[in-house]
Amino acid sequence: MNILVINCGSSSLKYQLINSKSEEVLAKGLCERIGINGGAIIHQPADGEKIRWEKDMPDHTAAVKLMIESLMDEQTGVIHSLEEIDAVGHRIVHGGEKFSSSVLITDEVQREVEECCDLAPLHNPANLIGIRSCKEVMPNVPMVGVFDTAFHQTMPKKAYMYGLPYEYYEKHKVRRYGFHGTSHDFVSARAAQILGKDRKDLKIIVCHLGNGASVSAVKNGESVDTSMGLTPLEGLIMGTRSGDMDPAIISFISKKEQISAEEVIDICNKKSGVLGLSGGLSSDFRDLAESAEAGNESAKIALDTYAYRVGKYIGAYAAAMNGVDAIVFTAGAGENNSQVRQLIGQYIGFLGTNIDEEKNKLRGQEVILSNEGSKVVTMIVPTDEEMAIARETERLV
Ligand code: AMP
Repeated sequence: MNILVINCGSSSLKYQLINSKSEEVLAKGLCERIGINGGAIIHQPADGEKIRWEKDMPDHTAAVKLMIESLMDEQTGVIHSLEEIDAVGHRIVHGGEKFSSSVLITDEVQREVEECCDLAPLHNPANLIGIRSCKEVMPNVPMVGVFDTAFHQTMPKKAYMYGLPYEYYEKHKVRRYGFHGTSHDFVSARAAQILGKDRKDLKIIVCHLGNGASVSAVKNGESVDTSMGLTPLEGLIMGTRSGDMDPAIISFISKKEQISAEEVIDICNKKSGVLGLSGGLSSDFRDLAESAEAGNESAKIALDTYAYRVGKYIGAYAAAMNGVDAIVFTAGAGENNSQVRQLIGQYIGFLGTNIDEEKNKLRGQEVILSNEGSKVVTMIVPTDEEMAIARETERLV
């Protein structure tokens, strides 16, 4: 089966065409600057060069058409007709309390996803536009929605409730949802496989450390807690997001700086995290690690504050599960940045992680970092959200 995986943003569309039997990525690409002048598609067939084609796309339907054109192009293409696309899997950010697993997309499902737009105003509308555009261009191809929030719907009430008046939950569904669920699910399942155990018998802490970052506690195969909340702003310090902070800071800064609460939240989302902490140096962990090594104090402070928060969450989730068997690092910085892992390692040694310094220098591959016989296994498992979406799509179609 050939499955087209779509991740649609407000002005971009990422895609991968995956053969679900061989799990081979046949081609992948990105349409950027949709609806803005200077649009382009970057398309890469398997084993081929990246090709960039400058072309304005007035809307997402134009982007979907351009993607199909590239997939069927005589030179860059990997298929000959639309018939060779058997299903489309869409990444959808917020499924609220409605969706605890992936679903076949129907008109009713689209309506329900629309109802969740309030909870993810930057993401869900764009995801819906992607679905509608694909339906327009490929009306007969079955489509599946895979939600970032779904895996965390198993969290118990004590983990998802805020200490706020209960009526806000009843009236407005204000609660913790968690994100990166596809990744936490994929990575914890793969970790169990690598360890040769059933995930149902394990307590796993997954640290998804990318530009956005979250930790989850996966007990007996189910998410029982995760660090992101109503929105992806809660939890860890991230590339540009603040993560946990005293909510009173919002009105305090708003008064002091004479800006609105929305503007403060915008700063918490876009100008905070390690970018803000490093005095605007960078949100990228590569830059920060290099600067810290060269002796830059603000880079050191940013990285240590970041690692300390991750360490504290790992400690908290070991308590939440009354134990932990494995700690898994994934996503950009988790997979690739040995300095970040080493800094975090300093705070979790008490659990019996026993991370090997040499093994910790490896990157971007499946590797057990702990020395043999350690009480808690620490490992790297690269995430692959697109493959996880393709698998879910195949399962449902
Ligand atoms: P993601 O959002 O998963 O793409 O992760 C982005 C983050 O991963 C950035 O902060 C990058 O600096 C970091 N990252 C990606 N590749 C590397 C690498 N080779 N070495 C160190 N950090 C990396």
